[in-house]
Amino acid sequence: MADRASIVDIVGPVAIGEFDNAKDHYKPGLIEWASKLPTLSDQAFLTECTRAIYESALVSRFRGNWEHEHFKASACYTDAKRRHAAAGHSPECNASTLYGRAHALAMRSAGHTPRPLTGCTCGRESEEKPSG
Ligand SMILES: [Zn+2]
Repeated sequence: MADRASIVDIVGPVAIGEFDNAKDHYKPGLIEWASKLPTLSDQAFLTECTRAIYESALVSRFRGNWEHEHFKASACYTDAKRRHAAAGHSPECNASTLYGRAHALAMRSAGHTPRPLTGCTCGRESEEKPSG
């Protein structure tokens, strides 16, 4: 059974702080969600990440404890960095991660114009132009 300790490395320090501040009844679901995060395909992760960023931005306008929503967006940020490294990019690479792509998608669906995505600078995707 997954517990808080098992998701610390997955979600990163910011998200685990948000986890701790979230309402207790959300926590089992957040742990379950976070333990599955690294197992998602990049496409499924992008979808999940876009939703998390969108929800996190949306609820920021309302009073109340929304840490469970911010937790998901922060966790996606951390796992996107892991996926970036796992795809072979160097730590200095400036390319937009899946989080960056999801952020742009979330901004578009909220009616905003996102900043252009940045391309790979480490040579891993030299043939791929930034899109979006
Ligand atoms: Zn790169």
